[in-house]
Amino acid sequence: MDLLQKIYEAGVVGAGGAGFPTHVKLDCKVEYLIINAAECEPLLNTDKYIMMNRGEEIIKTVEEVGEFVEAKHLIIALKEKYTEEINSLKDIIKRLNSNVELFYLGNYYPAGDEQMMVYEVTGRSIPEAGIPLDVGAVVTNVGTIVNIGEAMKDNPVVDKCITVVGEVNNPTMLKVPVGISVKECIDAAGGTDLNEYAVIIGGPMMGTIIDDNETHKNHIKKTDGSLIILPKDHYIVQRKRKPLQTIINETRSACIQCRYCTDLCHRYLIGHKLRPHKVMRNIGMSEQDEEIMKEALICCECGICELYSCPMGLSPRLVNVYVKGELRKKGIRPEKGSTDIESRDMIEYRKIPTTRLMARLDILKYYNQNIDDIKELFPKEVTIPLSQHIGKPASAVVKVGDNVSKGQLIGKVERNDMGANVHATIDGKVLEVSDKVIIQREDNGVIL
Ligand code: SF4
Ligand code: SF4
Repeated sequence: MDLLQKIYEAGVVGAGGAGFPTHVKLDCKVEYLIINAAECEPLLNTDKYIMMNRGEEIIKTVEEVGEFVEAKHLIIALKEKYTEEINSLKDIIKRLNSNVELFYLGNYYPAGDEQMMVYEVTGRSIPEAGIPLDVGAVVTNVGTIVNIGEAMKDNPVVDKCITVVGEVNNPTMLKVPVGISVKECIDAAGGTDLNEYAVIIGGPMMGTIIDDNETHKNHIKKTDGSLIILPKDHYIVQRKRKPLQTIINETRSACIQCRYCTDLCHRYLIGHKLRPHKVMRNIGMSEQDEEIMKEALICCECGICELYSCPMGLSPRLVNVYVKGELRKKGIRPEKGSTDIESRDMIEYRKIPTTRLMARLDILKYYNQNIDDIKELFPKEVTIPLSQHIGKPASAVVKVGDNVSKGQLIGKVERNDMGANVHATIDGKVLEVSDKVIIQREDNGVIL
């Protein structure tokens, strides 16, 4: 069976970010296969754990995938400061006589942004609204590589490694079935002493926020890798939760057009025509220049302008999100730019050092928390969404009352679909089938 068929059957999607279906992404021939192991968002540790514990599988799988996409260069891009992980991977590469290379990135945000990483490794800027393939590269996350390795052994994606950090009593690394509740993950990290808290699912810059009373109804997906527990009045929570109308009103009155948001925007720095300060000026005008507003369409929502650059506490990122929505309503989509673009001269000097970013975000105290050894959790119930990523949801192939076993297909997409299959992550009985499948563990025929 060919590699893409195995990946499709196992339901592999990008383990970080939007979760692009991997069998679609790897259906290409490229010069560069780049493995993203930068984990550039502050406080995340999952990829480092995977590299230390699954190194040999990672190197072997990169070779297999590299051969499939006919890449001349097989590169794992990771931060120079990950010395333990680098030494471990170097030893494995040497022992296996592998042609996989390591590429060292600085400790800055967003070193793990796909476009920035391709620029760093190849020196080529991906065009506006383009993808790495436009410049001869494909990028896949190191966690995805581990899942591809499992897919090659006919094991579907059923588990995730999750780091739980921040205001918990025992920061920890967990191995959990997809579909476990966020609450159970926090409880496994010793819970929190805070009376009121918020949870960031993902990194502090690009993650989503839920409230303490929503943790039982939010469940771990294939794309999740970390949970950060913060006080409800924390700077990040407050900034991310500011109402859009307040932001627009503040923009009209407070934007001083200093253009820091543009000068520090990495998409602008790799050569894209994205100038958030211009969008901010336009949003305050009664008649808006649509050509300038269209620049918002190529914003990747990394959050630098919102959480780091702006001296006035404004949120160009959220304004861009709003503008994108308005343009989409009019049927306006991002237009692909020319490949003939060059980065701007100041790019090397305008990368945001991660430690300075953490100080600005007021999260330095959670940096280097002692993380307990990995714990595996066996919940009695899982809630598995049929849509866990961008693209088409899977169609359920089980019904209420069915007994399913771990790894069994429960949601299917066609091979040509932009979507991914979904599998049972525990043994048990199906309790609900809707846009999700709920499975409860049974012992001797009795639901626990
Ligand atoms: S950084 Fe803030 S104040 Fe300066 S131009 Fe951008 S939005 Fe306006
Ligand atoms: S969020 Fe801000 S800094 Fe990031 S790409 Fe968009 S405009 Fe640029």
